[in-house]
This record gives sequence, C-alpha cells and structure tokens, in this order.
Amino acid sequence: MALPKKKISRVRGRTRRAHSAVKMLGLVLCTNCQQPKPAHIACPQCGFYGNKKVLNTKTDKRIAARLKRDQAAAARKAKTESNKKAAPKSAPKKSSATKAPKGQAKKDSDKK
Ligand SMILES: [Zn+2]
Repeated sequence: MALPKKKISRVRGRTRRAHSAVKMLGLVLCTNCQQPKPAHIACPQCGFYGNKKVLNTKTDKRIAARLKRDQAAAARKAKTESNKKAAPKSAPKKSSATKAPKGQAKKDSDKK
C-alpha cells in the first residue's frame, strides 16, 4: 500500500485545502420565465435554453396529462349529451315516424 514518505505539515495541508471549498453557482435569470438558473444549462423550470424549448419538464408532462384528461372528459360529455339529444329527438321522430307511415299508408290506401 502506498504511504506518504514524509509528514505533511499543518500549514501545507491547509494551504492545499484552501482551494477545495464549494463555490457558489453562477446563477443567471432564465430568458423565458425569469427564474434563477445555473448558466449554460437548460432551465429546469420551463425547459428553455435561450429561446428554444429543449427539455420536457415535469410541469409540461403534468399539463399534457391534464389536457389529455380534460379532452377525454369533454369527449365523454359530448357523447352523453349527443345521446341525450338523440334520445328526445328519436322519441318525437318515432311518433312522427309512426304518424308519417300512417299518412303514407292512408295516402297509399287512398291511391288504391
Ligand atoms: Zn425558465
């Protein structure tokens, strides 16, 4: 196992470690949403890099899922409404349909 040949003095070790401190991130404001973000990195909030959409963020996925849900709900609602509309229309149609053939039948019978 490799071992140090000599003891490193307190000062020498501390001098070396003087540069290993964690530095602050260079934060800049996002051009799209004005949120602070690390420089040269796509915005984690909105997924924009410069003025281009690059990332699909969690919020985007949530919005897409919500849109899909809403569209499905709207489609279901429209279907039920159309069924409801069709049902009352069909009921009078049935009566009219029943009346019309009678008239036709009468006409037919008159013709005969
Ligand atoms: Zn942003």
